[in-house]
Amino acid sequence: MRLNLSINKACKNGLFVASIFLICISVVDFTNQNNIIRAQAPDEKGYELREIGGGAYVVSNTGYNSMFLVTGEGVIVVDAPPSIGVKINDAIAEVTNEPVKFLVYSHAHKDHIGGANVLPVETEIVAQRDTLGFLKMANDTDRPLPTQIFDNETTISLGNATLQLFYGGPYHQNGNIFIYSPQHKILMVVDQFSPGGMPWKHLATTPHVPSYIQSYDQVLNYDFDTYVSGHGIGTKDDVILEKQYVSDLKNNARFAISNVNFTEATKNTDKSNNAAVTEAYFNAMTDVCADRTNGNWKDKLQGVGVWTDEHCEKMIISLRND
Ligand SMILES: [Zn+2]
Repeated sequence: MRLNLSINKACKNGLFVASIFLICISVVDFTNQNNIIRAQAPDEKGYELREIGGGAYVVSNTGYNSMFLVTGEGVIVVDAPPSIGVKINDAIAEVTNEPVKFLVYSHAHKDHIGGANVLPVETEIVAQRDTLGFLKMANDTDRPLPTQIFDNETTISLGNATLQLFYGGPYHQNGNIFIYSPQHKILMVVDQFSPGGMPWKHLATTPHVPSYIQSYDQVLNYDFDTYVSGHGIGTKDDVILEKQYVSDLKNNARFAISNVNFTEATKNTDKSNNAAVTEAYFNAMTDVCADRTNGNWKDKLQGVGVWTDEHCEKMIISLRND
């Protein structure tokens, strides 16, 4: 067993804007993201187990995914959602009696790793440094602290498997990583988007929209056949479609910024109320962006017409500020 850490430079520390973190946690921890996910009905076992490559499996329950690799010398698990809970051990036992050696955290959110405490205490837990920072703040016994930390990239080699972990910026949360198995051509990216659906509320609650946009090219630079999201499984075509949506959204947000007249948009607003004036202006831009986006994407992705306005507003704010 070997864990190679190749740290190029110190990453952003964990002391980033606390309010963004708290907003993200509050939305993601307590709100079920499954409402745009194709149904993944668990069977009577309480979970669904799918083999997605030789020795690579996805365990699902109520739309949440965990992935694990059977390596010949132990098992590598990625994420442990509380919705699967202790059943993760049943799922692994279905296909192997090898012990769990590694657990990888895709990011810090509890709805994806809050079942980690059901794995053996000797499991090595691997995460990016910002994830460690968030988990220290959370002080949550359901999410044990990582034991192996990296900044930019690392590789887990165990038995016949190699798992490459890379941090390329916060598409969803600081510390979220790309998880790649080259021999299986599997890429796991959690909470970037869900195949078949548009990005989750407020562009997947990303703290940095340019990083979110960039993440699509980062994904497409991998040689993969299977895209394992936190919710659902897709292909490269799903990523390409989603990239087109985000690109169109950006164009429509830019159009709205250029074409909505401030004076016209705020003419009926009490000018002594700065918040009301700002809101009227942003609402007008958001409406223009959303109308164009809904027209282009109706019936192409689940969630269009529901979250389009949130995506537009977030993109407009980013284009003005980032
Ligand atoms: Zn999340």
